[in-house]
Amino acid sequence: METTPLLVIGASWCPDCRRAKTFLGDHHVPYEWIDLDQQPEHRARVEELNGGARVIPTIIFPDGSHLAEPSNDQLADKIGLVRVARERSYDVVVVGGGPAGLTAALYLAREGATTLVVERSAVGGQVAITERLDNYPGFPDGIAGQDLATRMRQQAERAGVEILEAVAVSALAPRDDGALDVVTPTATYRARAVVVATGSTYRRTGAEGEADLIGAGVHFCATCDGPFYRGAPEVVVVGGGNSGLEEGLYLTQFAEHVTVVEAAPALTAGRLAQDRVAAHPGMDALTATAVAAFEGDATGKLTAVVLEDRETGERRRHPASAAFVFIGLDPNTEVLGGQADLDDAGFVVSDERLATGVPGVFVAGDVRHGSTKQLAAAAGEGATVALAVRHHLERAASTVAAGS
Ligand SMILES: Cc1cc2nc3c(=O)[nH]c(=O)nc-3n(C[C@H](O)[C@H](O)[C@H](O)COP(=O)(O)OP(=O)(O)OC[C@H]3O[C@@H](n4cnc5c(N)ncnc54)[C@H](O)[C@@H]3O)c2cc1C
Repeated sequence: METTPLLVIGASWCPDCRRAKTFLGDHHVPYEWIDLDQQPEHRARVEELNGGARVIPTIIFPDGSHLAEPSNDQLADKIGLVRVARERSYDVVVVGGGPAGLTAALYLAREGATTLVVERSAVGGQVAITERLDNYPGFPDGIAGQDLATRMRQQAERAGVEILEAVAVSALAPRDDGALDVVTPTATYRARAVVVATGSTYRRTGAEGEADLIGAGVHFCATCDGPFYRGAPEVVVVGGGNSGLEEGLYLTQFAEHVTVVEAAPALTAGRLAQDRVAAHPGMDALTATAVAAFEGDATGKLTAVVLEDRETGERRRHPASAAFVFIGLDPNTEVLGGQADLDDAGFVVSDERLATGVPGVFVAGDVRHGSTKQLAAAAGEGATVALAVRHHLERAASTVAAGS
């Protein structure tokens, strides 16, 4: 029997429509998109559902119900996400459901610690938005990012980990009893220890087409995805800082030619990297050049980058098999609210046991100063931090016992 698809009716210029589509995409809810500018015949239906008002997005669910301009919270409730945990007190709350957080939670729950993972978006973190992972041990043919994320989740849940999605932790507050309050919009949880595994966010250019082509020609990690472009005639690197130039040089072992584009009037990388690029026969750098759009073909793969000359405003199409964006990385540290030490780039500083300066608060994965921004390393840090948290819980318990 054919099922009625979930319909998202909106317009390409509407930010709330984009937000709703991203939310549904993150949570793997299939939907059909109707752009009213392209299909105006659906306007009447929107008006009919909303008492004559043309509210977008209007989302029509397979059971016939609808939501007009819903918030992410309303969408989360509607698709049945669990957003309040069973208990109010846990041994450990892990903030962030990426590979570092899920691994830490798996280890801790297997040892008998009551463990809650709170994830602001969808479980899997950056892995869940990665098309294919080719360098994670144990998968000789590679594995789809979503598939790995699902497996990590299943393994953690089998060990007894409880997971909340679409719930952001907004604050961590030390309590008088030595534990911490973990504050979320839906409830506050007491935790004897907290693991901050909130990762970091690759900065995007925001150019047209970028979001749709991530993983299909637009990438943020040369070590991860460079080998897919062995023999490619042309690859573009966006960003003329040290990362852009170093990663661009690395990509020349795969692609025949690499072009670096930098929006500023000059490259910002150090002299040494600039000299190496200038001397490389397979590399060129364009300054005062911005990416105006990423273009794909009918199969959804990148075919070209539209470049804009910042001085003249002139645009031209630059065919390329891939574009690697290196314009910075923002660590997700809001949850710490200035309580922990951060390095100059905003990453969380920890000691060798991955403890932050805040009692009972540990850190693991990409958000940590000194992390390698690789999946296997993030999972490894999850295991390391779990052992440190176990030690902390044992010590706290023996202190209480000694005092009683
Ligand atoms: C497109 C892409 C491709 C990649 N390809 C590869 C590859 O091929 N090989 C490889 O080794 N690495 C790859 N990486 C890097 C790898 O995915 C990361 O190193 C790894 O995911 C880091 O794990 P993490 O758990 O530290 O952080 P993340 O995966 O970033 O997970 C952190 C989670 O914390 C959540 N969070 C943040 N703040 C809060 C909050 N306040 N409350 C609740 N939750 C919060 C986020 O939503 C996120 O889900 C890739 C990254 C990207 C973006």
